[in-house]
Amino acid sequence: MPEQPELTIQGWGPRPATPGDEGPDGVLTKAARRHLTRELGWEPRATPPAPVDGIRLAPCRLPEEDRAALAGLLGEDHVRTDRGSRLRRAGGKSYLDLLRRREGDASDAPDAVALPGTTEETAALLAMCSERGIVVVPFGGGTSVVGGLAGVDPDDRPVLAVDLTRMASVQALDVHSSLVTVGPGMRGPALERALAREGLTLGHLPQSWEFATLGGYAATRSAGQSSTGVGRFDELVAGLILATPSGVLELGHPPASAAGPDLLGLALGSEGTLGVITELTLRVRPKPSASAYEGWSFRTWADGLAALQQLARHDLLPDVVRLSDADETRANLLMAAGAGAKALRGSLRARGRAEGCMLVVGWEGVPDLVRARVRAASSLLRDGGAVRLGRRVGDSWRRHRFEAPYLRDRLMDGGLLVETLETAATWTALPTVYDTTRRALRESLARGGHRPLVMAHVSHGYATGASLYFTVLADRDDALPIQQWLSAKRAATDALLAAGGTLTHHHAVGADHRPWLEREVGSLGVEVLRAVKQRLDPHGICNPGVLLPD
Ligand SMILES: Cc1cc2nc3c(=O)[nH]c(=O)nc-3n(C[C@H](O)[C@H](O)[C@H](O)COP(=O)(O)OP(=O)(O)OC[C@H]3O[C@@H](n4cnc5c(N)ncnc54)[C@H](O)[C@@H]3O)c2cc1C
Repeated sequence: MPEQPELTIQGWGPRPATPGDEGPDGVLTKAARRHLTRELGWEPRATPPAPVDGIRLAPCRLPEEDRAALAGLLGEDHVRTDRGSRLRRAGGKSYLDLLRRREGDASDAPDAVALPGTTEETAALLAMCSERGIVVVPFGGGTSVVGGLAGVDPDDRPVLAVDLTRMASVQALDVHSSLVTVGPGMRGPALERALAREGLTLGHLPQSWEFATLGGYAATRSAGQSSTGVGRFDELVAGLILATPSGVLELGHPPASAAGPDLLGLALGSEGTLGVITELTLRVRPKPSASAYEGWSFRTWADGLAALQQLARHDLLPDVVRLSDADETRANLLMAAGAGAKALRGSLRARGRAEGCMLVVGWEGVPDLVRARVRAASSLLRDGGAVRLGRRVGDSWRRHRFEAPYLRDRLMDGGLLVETLETAATWTALPTVYDTTRRALRESLARGGHRPLVMAHVSHGYATGASLYFTVLADRDDALPIQQWLSAKRAATDALLAAGGTLTHHHAVGADHRPWLEREVGSLGVEVLRAVKQRLDPHGICNPGVLLPD
């Protein structure tokens, strides 16, 4: 993998080669292709992206006088209006973002890109933009899947993407207190490389790890694949600096404080609406010296959920927990290539589990503790009716865990709708949230006698409940592809909220979820958020198109 892969405009990009990897390499196995064709009524067809040279970009609306003033502040090199810079910061990586870019539409691209290098520069930039009426959209890795970078402004002012790439280094490491201070533009792999030299790790590993930034994780309250054990990203933030148009806030006081309500929580999940996070202090831990990843199989989804709830109740949840429903299990088995996958399919058939639900679990830490936790959890899993499939399944999941976005590019090339959505609910509400969301997606996306493939897994466990992550595949409606997904998303969101799910467990609100925010936090809650924004951002220049409803 290159040190830092480049941002791509119309997809996730070419998959880096992994030595010794026998995975699907972003291409469907024959069995998976047959399965999708039969289930979805999909006719594989070539729908390649439009040539990048032909992508439509609106003329830059930033007046020359404003550009020159910004360049005076940051330096000529750090204010860009060229086509490539604007295109690379156009929107995020949701299915709809990619559809638009693939169709040659980048009308939502920012008018210009600014690259501040310090908190002071960022604060001065925000004050200048506030005075001149320029909208500011903080840009981290550009991996938002909820329209977080839409740059929509009701007053149609020029939009400036504030790229944090220049603030991407480790500024301080306090090994004694297990704290690292970093710039917001740093990506996960770079931080892990720096920490590994000291025998430390952050351990935050979302699927977007190769591209997303630490500032983006904080701004969206991200959760990683090991968050059940390590904690969500917001739990890893000990402090941060937020530059706003009204001044600079330094928030958080490790290790703990009782000095009034925790203002740090206002910045976490603020999605650029209050200002720009310019520095983060994060909790780190020793790099694990032992790990154990393995697969288990349950006869039914209900059995799997019940067993996870028992693990949670006894404080025995592993660090990684992923329980797939029957449809996702079947699809994963069909996608898996190679002799190992064939042997696994045979073994599942022999044990009467060909139609079961697969659980992947992972533990990390010091060897004695890992062994003890594995032993105790395994006993509960067996009591819950699970069959152990062994380390090979766990290791294979771990090896291929960043591949899905590369595969999505190929599936979109072939004429498929591919999108995900997520929520969380209490153990009590979870089964209904699962059923109703699934039904809403299946009914909304039914076409010509065929149903979409709606797959789900539990991706994070808590004492009181768990998150649910849905992946949807359907034959794309080539005439109205955007409408097709918008209708399904609306139906699914209404259904999951009505059943007691949260609007989002880790993708954030963005532009896509904001019409539903009031149902989540109430009208008074929305008013409180508006009042905070009014104080920090009186001219409403900070990412006005996201989070808060119109
Ligand atoms: C294939 C794929 C897999 C994903 N997997 C996961 C996953 O496993 N877990 C998960 O939680 N999410 C996941 N996501 C969603 C996304 O990666 C996260 O929301 C991530 O936290 C965004 O980080 P980013 O640096 O790319 O932020 P961006 O996309 O650049 O920005 C996201 C939002 O945060 C704001 N923002 C960014 N940086 C700052 C800053 N420094 N200060 C203030 N505001 C800022 C932006 O204005 C925007 O509103 C996935 C996305 C994709 C495309």
